[in-house]
Amino acid sequence: MKWLPIILIPMAVFAAGAAAVTGNDASGRLQERCDRLGKGQLQSVIEFLSADALEGRAPGTRGGELAENYLHALFKGLGLRSRFQPFTLHGFRLAALSAAAGGRDLAFGEEIVGSHVGPEGEFSLEGDAVFAGFGIRTELWDWDDYKQTDLRGKVLVVRVNDPGLFLPRIFDGKALTYFGRWTYKIEEATRAGARAILLIHTTPTAGYGWDVVRNSWSGEELHLPADLDQGPVFRGWVREDSLRSLLAGRRFDLDRLYARSLRRDFRPVDLGFKVRISGRNASRTLAARNVIAELPGSSGKRIVLSAHIDHLGRDERRAGDQIFNGAIDNGAAVAALAMVAKVYAEAGRELHFGLTFLACQAEEAGLLGAKHFVSRADPREIVANINFESTPVWEKSPDMFAEGAQYSTLEGMLRKVAAGQGLNYTPFSMSDQGLFFRSDQFPFAQAGIPACWLSAGERTVAGRNRLAEFFKGGAYHTVDDEFDPAWELQGLRQTVKLAVGLIEHLQTTRAIPLWKGRPPFPLAGEPRLGVVDSGPDLWYKK
Ligand SMILES: [Zn+2]
Repeated sequence: MKWLPIILIPMAVFAAGAAAVTGNDASGRLQERCDRLGKGQLQSVIEFLSADALEGRAPGTRGGELAENYLHALFKGLGLRSRFQPFTLHGFRLAALSAAAGGRDLAFGEEIVGSHVGPEGEFSLEGDAVFAGFGIRTELWDWDDYKQTDLRGKVLVVRVNDPGLFLPRIFDGKALTYFGRWTYKIEEATRAGARAILLIHTTPTAGYGWDVVRNSWSGEELHLPADLDQGPVFRGWVREDSLRSLLAGRRFDLDRLYARSLRRDFRPVDLGFKVRISGRNASRTLAARNVIAELPGSSGKRIVLSAHIDHLGRDERRAGDQIFNGAIDNGAAVAALAMVAKVYAEAGRELHFGLTFLACQAEEAGLLGAKHFVSRADPREIVANINFESTPVWEKSPDMFAEGAQYSTLEGMLRKVAAGQGLNYTPFSMSDQGLFFRSDQFPFAQAGIPACWLSAGERTVAGRNRLAEFFKGGAYHTVDDEFDPAWELQGLRQTVKLAVGLIEHLQTTRAIPLWKGRPPFPLAGEPRLGVVDSGPDLWYKK
């Protein structure tokens, strides 16, 4: 039969070709599936989470609990195994405060704000005021403001930000490093045994005005039980003008102190006056839950995808709208998480790395849900964390970004994924905001797990930077972060597709992401993967 070879040979060629590209075909199909996610499906998660009925989803509130229940139901509805991970939070709120420094009263709210981490009831403390420069002690930039000075029981007065803001050739220039964050200053003051810490507020160093400080420090402060063991019992901010007037007529001029604080040989300076702080504290315990859904993989290792479900709740002191709906922050990001879960739940694909979908609570209160999750996980099992945060909801972007990926081999992988999806890999434009340290990817990174905040690009195809508009003076952290049915949600769809692209890259190559070099923040313990490559010294010891 003469025709047989003619038929068979092309079939054999076709079959061999198909076998070779099966993995890529499956990956390609999954990515195409993201293009077909319907607007209604994408909207549904944002619309529900940001509804007024959820009252801004603060942890420990009815709305927060509803958000937890919703994610649990959503994951189960997709056919995933879902469970709650309950944890306890301690809340502290100042009922009254009076403060005096150098014999002069400081007006609560106008000149000083803060919180007292301690039991319910009256408190009072006193200590010598010591200026500790930027309050930074790290080998990464060969910087030590403490110089082993005994600061136990002192009231530390500390600058926020880092010296790179003023001297562009040290630290990371104007990009805010972890060591510039006020949260870090408290950690370091804790290690020094200080009694209290007062952060000096200026708009350029804080990145926001006194109003923002006053608003965000006037409510309740939440802590995980593990964070309460030590640390300065009073943490607060003082206005620069007030500090300046306190120093008037004394030995020290604030500008001279500032100039000293930009030198490596800086030492803490006793300011020669005492600070007295007293007040009344209200405290309570509340319950919160992360929601965790899993798809197991054959390797025993997993990729954790995350997004926070909480937002800022409701402010009953406000006239008019009181609800912080958090539609973009973080309803849109939870929608991205849910859609990646949906794509994989429906694909029924065999996985090498398992997928854990983590809906975190209490991010806005200090990444507490993610910290709790990481504290209970074995970092050796987690190959990477892909976090979604304030995901773009607007028109298509020609770009993508992955904040934090630059520290690990995730960057190279994502460059390939972006190219495959026709997107430009762009750096994040708001590195002065320190956002990598301010969302749920950070506790993973600190535990030694390569992590990033993955997103469609900031710019739309029309060239408008909608994400920067949102963060800088837009609806971010205001009652105006509300769901808009007119959103095109192309950026959200692109973000889902990028995550699927990265997951597929990891599944098919089976590569485990590694740090490129020493990351520019302290790691809790040894990084699981070790430092694999000294790399160019891009971010430290410049
Ligand atoms: Zn957020």
